[in-house]
Amino acid sequence: MINALYRNMLSGKSVIRELSEYAQNLGAQIGEENIFDFSLGNPSVPVPQAFNDRVVELLRTESSIAVHGYSPSLGIPSVREKIAASLARRFGLPYTKDDVFMTSGAAGALAHAFRLVAGPGDVILTFAPFFPEYHPYVDLSTGAKLRVVPARTEDFQINFDAFEQMLTADVQAVLINTPNNPSGVVYSEETLRQLADMLLQKEKEFGHEIWLISDEPYREIVFDGRQAPYVSAFYPRTISCYSYSKSLSLPGERIGYVAVNPQSGVSSLLVNMCGQISRGIGHNCPSSVIQLAVADVCDMTADLSIYETNMNLLYDGLTRLGFDIVRPGGTFYMFPKALEADANAFSRKALQYGLVLVPGDTFGVPGYFRIAYCTDTKKVVRSLDAFERFVKAEY
Ligand code: PLP
Repeated sequence: MINALYRNMLSGKSVIRELSEYAQNLGAQIGEENIFDFSLGNPSVPVPQAFNDRVVELLRTESSIAVHGYSPSLGIPSVREKIAASLARRFGLPYTKDDVFMTSGAAGALAHAFRLVAGPGDVILTFAPFFPEYHPYVDLSTGAKLRVVPARTEDFQINFDAFEQMLTADVQAVLINTPNNPSGVVYSEETLRQLADMLLQKEKEFGHEIWLISDEPYREIVFDGRQAPYVSAFYPRTISCYSYSKSLSLPGERIGYVAVNPQSGVSSLLVNMCGQISRGIGHNCPSSVIQLAVADVCDMTADLSIYETNMNLLYDGLTRLGFDIVRPGGTFYMFPKALEADANAFSRKALQYGLVLVPGDTFGVPGYFRIAYCTDTKKVVRSLDAFERFVKAEY
């Protein structure tokens, strides 16, 4: 028998992927140069040379089993040690290798985190706007339900009134993503403090723990010379889900980790449980050579400056055209308000001008749209002409 659940999902495929495929087909017909594909968050900047050099060196100098063999189920100990030391140095928490579990990107990390702290009948809360893959990640994995707190559209920080109402006793975990996909907003220290206070208060009231799952693949992509506040520093029961997909431009290598706050008192237990979850889901350890190479460049990033350049160009150009935008503090996304209430209709019209924009409905905020500006700057500049023609002709 073919599994009906997954078969039925074929009719509800990712809007983002479908738009990206559509853009590629359209590009083949009317020329790549006439398409401004802002649909997919696929990093455009080169991987640091040091990473490639290290891979080559490892391949030349290490034994076949060291670079191509199975790694231990929690990850290679020296890799976990290096990452823990880097986290401890940078963020001031006493991480050791026992707090770190290697995964296939943030998606793999989240798949483990959800199973660590939620099961059938539980609720995981997240905040709009949110990464749409959270639905399949949660709904298909744990038997828990994902519920979404409505957005605070004036600044895309947390809507605490709505959050408090939805934070009921069946909530076992709260999932946040800062810097945020799709808004580009970085949660402030004040937001994180208020969030932590509310969780601590509700833990007391309900008599059970509430875990904070922090999805942070954009942690290093922050503008204006700032740093994103480190979520785990605000709340002891935090599970950080990190990925090198964006900061090192390595999405195809599928590499990231879970880091459990050592101050939770149960970090080693949870990390060991991750090894058992892997057995259950058939997600085994990521590639050994990639683990070894990434550990040696874990304090580096690719040259991420192009994202800030692109953001400033788009933010200035689009606000001049009358768009209402919360200025992104990081990532390579922005989330303007559409020029009509129906963002789907807006995005369909934009396609006629070669602009591929993702309607906000898929991120839980109708009436807005996402621009993924991880593309080259010349294209961003030319897209502003297309935006101008679009706005002048249609609105
Ligand atoms: N979380 C967010 C918010 C993302 O934007 C993405 C990818 O775009 C992921 C998780 C998954 O990242 P990874 O490629 O590391 O699995």
